[in-house]
Amino acid sequence: MSSVDMDTIVSLCKRRGFIFQSSEIYGGAGGCWDYGPLGVELKRNVKEAWWKAMVHDRDDVVGIDAAILMNPQVWVASGHVQQFSDPLVDCKACKNRFRADHVKGNKCPDCGGELTEPRMFNLMFKTFMGPVENDAAVVYLRPETAQGIFVNFQNVMSTTRRKLPLGIAQVGKSFRNEITTGNFIFRSREFEQMEMEYFVKPGTDEHWFQHWLEQRFNWYVNLGIRKENLRLRQHEKEELAHYAKGCYDVEYLFPMGWSELEGIANRADYDLTQHAKYSGKDLSVFEEETKERFVPYVIEPSAGVDRSVLAFLLDSYHEEMVEKEKRVVLRLHPALAPIKVAVLPLSRNEKLVPMATEVHASIRGCFVTQYDDSQSIGRRYRRQDEIGTPFCVTIDFQSLEDKQVTIRDRDSLQQIRVPIETLKTTLAAKLAGEAFDVLPPGGSVVTGAKN
Ligand code: ATP
Repeated sequence: MSSVDMDTIVSLCKRRGFIFQSSEIYGGAGGCWDYGPLGVELKRNVKEAWWKAMVHDRDDVVGIDAAILMNPQVWVASGHVQQFSDPLVDCKACKNRFRADHVKGNKCPDCGGELTEPRMFNLMFKTFMGPVENDAAVVYLRPETAQGIFVNFQNVMSTTRRKLPLGIAQVGKSFRNEITTGNFIFRSREFEQMEMEYFVKPGTDEHWFQHWLEQRFNWYVNLGIRKENLRLRQHEKEELAHYAKGCYDVEYLFPMGWSELEGIANRADYDLTQHAKYSGKDLSVFEEETKERFVPYVIEPSAGVDRSVLAFLLDSYHEEMVEKEKRVVLRLHPALAPIKVAVLPLSRNEKLVPMATEVHASIRGCFVTQYDDSQSIGRRYRRQDEIGTPFCVTIDFQSLEDKQVTIRDRDSLQQIRVPIETLKTTLAAKLAGEAFDVLPPGGSVVTGAKN
């Protein structure tokens, strides 16, 4: 189990400006969250790491950004209008509502009152398109990004002139009117997804399914999640959607137990066949080499941005004792850390500040930085540790003479001194994974430092 409880992370997120309750001054908005200055950086980094691994680092995947509002027929074809429902029960005494599969027995978990029989509740948010609010104007806020990909399959195939296998990736907001939200950003009503549909020739789908299971599991591990806190869980037959050939969840050991981070499914030709049927358009492809025409199968890795953010926060959280004081540190992977480098003059001394601002100006265009000259240096180090900043650069009186600055490593607390003219390249190398004690010309290790 991740060693930290959810309350500790919620309070760190609020205190440091990662995540706030939505519309907090009005008492909140059920199951919605706002990302603050650090949270937005972390979230962008998660999305960028996903886009890099899924799109930029491969030559068989392209991206799109489809509209949230779609023709309502899309959701009839996909099955969401008829089937995207959860079983809902009401408490006859306190009137609270629960997802039937989240409560045991027929007693209300809040007051012990009797629960109603389950009835199905559709999770899609409805709104109206245009000035008239009638049935013909009803549209839905998309409950997943995937359908925007399916309906653009032909556009992308013909404009990119690609052959199969071809993946189409998309990151964006989705909305579900969840019956019960909770566990912080784990289950909310407005959230973001990172989804990719990988279109393949039928018969090769099993191979690609295995490929994506491996790729997606390793993505989390490569970004620092401990292997023992991750697992792939195969869906039981009863859990599988009727059309799916197979499905696994990537699960993380959250404080409330093993829970889904991402689903990876072999959806066969269900989606394209449905859209072909409802739109009247032919969505099959013709393979030149074999002269065969077929409807592609699709492998879908579907991940939640917010759940990933939560897992990265939980897994990187550490408490330790340093010189008899508690140190809280987020050991975030440098690619995810909201701030990469903090520039800290030893004090606000008038001689130090000009040099510190100059050093800051020389690197801020290259890395996401923060300049901080308030309070004692020790407290400023702790603040950066708590938000996961990999490196702090300190300018002291010695710097005025030898034109060198100190770099402090968040994880080992080691310090090295490097000439200012090598600072940029040294930081870039360390952020890319170079060992901390590899020194640039003229650099030295500071002995005895462990602050
Ligand atoms: P659950 O069983 O937890 O409701 P699901 O199986 O319905 O999830 P999918 O439809 O497979 O979820 O959605 C893909 C991913 O989108 C999930 O793995 C999750 O990371 C994210 N996701 C789904 N619903 C929510 C939500 N309400 N809040 C935050 N993230 C969500």
